[in-house]
Amino acid sequence: MEIVKCWIEHPIRNLDQTFEYASETHISQGCRVLIPFRNRQLIGFVESSKPMEETLKAYEKRNGFSLKKIEGVLDNEPLITEELHDLAFYMREITLSTTISCFQAMLPSVVKPSTHHKKAVVERWVKVSDEKCSLTPKQLEAYLTVSQAGELPYSVLRKNYPNIARVLIEKKALVVFTKEKQAVSSSLSITPSPYALNQEQKQAVEEILSSDDTVFLLKGVTGSGKTEVYFQLAQKVLEEGRQVLFLVPEIGLTPMMIDRVSKRFGSYLAVYHSGLSAQEKYEQYQLVHHGKAGIVVGTRSAVFLPFENLGLIIMDEEHDGSYKQDSQPSYHTRDIAMFRCRYNQAKLILGSATPSLDSYARALKHVYHLVTLNHRVNDTLPHIHIVNMKEAMEEGQNEMISDALRDGIALRLKNREQVIILLNRRGYYSLLKCRKCQQVLKCPHCDLAMSYHKEGRIMKCHTCGYQMRVPRICPSCQSSQGFTTYGYGTQKLHDQVHTMFPEARIIRMDADTTGKKNAHHDLLQAFGNKEADILIGTQMIAKGLDYPSVTLVGIVNGDEGLNRTDYRSCETTFDLLMQAAGRSGRSETAGEVILQVNDPLHYAVTCAASSDYDSFFTQEMAYRHAVMAPPYTYLISITVSSTNPKRCSEMALKIQREISGDFKTGGVIELLRKKDLYRNRILLKGRNLEIMRNAVSNWLDSQKNKPEGVRIDVNPLVLD
Ligand code: ADP
Ligand code: ZN
Ligand code: ZN
Repeated sequence: MEIVKCWIEHPIRNLDQTFEYASETHISQGCRVLIPFRNRQLIGFVESSKPMEETLKAYEKRNGFSLKKIEGVLDNEPLITEELHDLAFYMREITLSTTISCFQAMLPSVVKPSTHHKKAVVERWVKVSDEKCSLTPKQLEAYLTVSQAGELPYSVLRKNYPNIARVLIEKKALVVFTKEKQAVSSSLSITPSPYALNQEQKQAVEEILSSDDTVFLLKGVTGSGKTEVYFQLAQKVLEEGRQVLFLVPEIGLTPMMIDRVSKRFGSYLAVYHSGLSAQEKYEQYQLVHHGKAGIVVGTRSAVFLPFENLGLIIMDEEHDGSYKQDSQPSYHTRDIAMFRCRYNQAKLILGSATPSLDSYARALKHVYHLVTLNHRVNDTLPHIHIVNMKEAMEEGQNEMISDALRDGIALRLKNREQVIILLNRRGYYSLLKCRKCQQVLKCPHCDLAMSYHKEGRIMKCHTCGYQMRVPRICPSCQSSQGFTTYGYGTQKLHDQVHTMFPEARIIRMDADTTGKKNAHHDLLQAFGNKEADILIGTQMIAKGLDYPSVTLVGIVNGDEGLNRTDYRSCETTFDLLMQAAGRSGRSETAGEVILQVNDPLHYAVTCAASSDYDSFFTQEMAYRHAVMAPPYTYLISITVSSTNPKRCSEMALKIQREISGDFKTGGVIELLRKKDLYRNRILLKGRNLEIMRNAVSNWLDSQKNKPEGVRIDVNPLVLD
């Protein structure tokens, strides 16, 4: 008899411990098992299985409880490796979450240790049997096909030998067995780079390869050929027989990167992002697990794949906020990637034109090894013009498209070049106000304005997704005088551009047009094939795109992000402007950028306009120092949410009273209601993250009842 310790899928914090069960057989760590728990059957995740050194009776007597038996084993082999097991514990420590939630975050949904489990799809396969039987020539041909292949999916055999396949099984010449459906990959085939590296690129590659450091920050202006540097490093690692993980911040960037990677390294490749179905994800997971993929292109969650032999992680656009997970465990991909590289003696390359303040500050202190690319491959930075929209509108120019932008578009259309226009807001109007009481039409579930979407004439809440028709009477004052409209999003911009340039072919790319599977890929491919002249979109078009015939980028409402009260709003605005500007003039033709703003003198705008990261860094660091914000301090945000506003604020006050130490515990801040939940936040701020973490962790351990609706975010990137 074995004693098996299991983690249980249970959101309750004080159940974050293992439970013991008995089993006749040994079960490996990381397998899922069915276990009885409080009159229910739950799924457990095996932590350990050890032979019992006494009889079951003796054990039960000594411990004072009866040991229940495992009711079933769900996996033949462990789902995670030893490394991932250790990583779960590390993640639990740094994010202050439960162990089981860390395992959950790591596994593809079909095999998550959750109570509602779906099964991985199995396929029927055939192989030849030992039975002797007489066959017709055609049957023999089919039989030999199977015999030569060793084994074959039944569907493949049936396709080639429609009726014969079934007969062979009836005759018992073939036997059927089941196997988990698998994705296919092929072996490594490297196509050499189409061009020689320039001096800077060569130096960067050599410096990284010859160094023993683990973490590198590759700071390279947009268009400096960072991707080529990544590929050279990847090639070296692949040739050594080790695996490479290539992380991109957004699913929208995966099609282009997959395309570039597969042209270079063939289909010795796995892909992992949220656009895949649960089954597809599982298949890709297994490809990596069984070492059948050398290079993986993926978003955030790909950092948990069970690599056998990891040699390199590349984190492209490392500053991007989507590398941080919102829900618990709210980990940052960078921390996980660092753990994995240390564990595997692999290298981590953080790449960006606009590194996060934290990363650059660390690189300057030599915590990370800094490598820079200062020149664009074509050696021409785009010309950036700032348009002051307040002045432009006083002169009677169009509120969305200034005269400068209009003329710029006209010129590109004439020259048959392409244009990208960025507006980081979707929908048609951004808000509707009652003509009588002047109240903004808000989401019934959140305290936030709803946006008008012309397609379907509906109001959408961009926070919770709630939709409704424009009401005939005002929900606040019951008047039927109607609403006035304010602000605009990509839909209205599209209409405006179309009105100005009826002959131009326009593609719009935002969350509304990319909901369908492969939509990102299809829209970008169409633009890449020059099936459109103008690409209009939200931030999803600002990053990574590399289209040589784009010579004009227009940025509409470029400084809108500065209105946010977040401590990082200048940084994110600067990043967005720099990234968007970087899409222009990437080949021989010099690029132009027209930046429409309301505050042309703000340093986030002026530094972006002169493509001057270092000057932005200096000014922003001075501001962060003045307000003692990260990276000068660490933050832990604790958010309480509840449908009951009183319970919410009581809980928040209790936390504020009870968590204290050698750091600052801020007052309770009431946040806007979201998805019917009232929300209160307490912010801890201090110079020693360990002390802060311990204080929160001790508080959690001291709670007899589970603290309901409490969300903890260590190093939060957004405070809303
Ligand atoms: P980044 O990622 O730094 O913005 P990319 O890697 O996308 O830049 O490179 C920008 C463009 O320059 C791409 O079209 C790429 O194919 C091209 N390129 C990169 N390196 C070279 C080189 N050594 N010689 C010629 N073209 C290059
Ligand atoms: Zn009203
Ligand atoms: Zn809402």
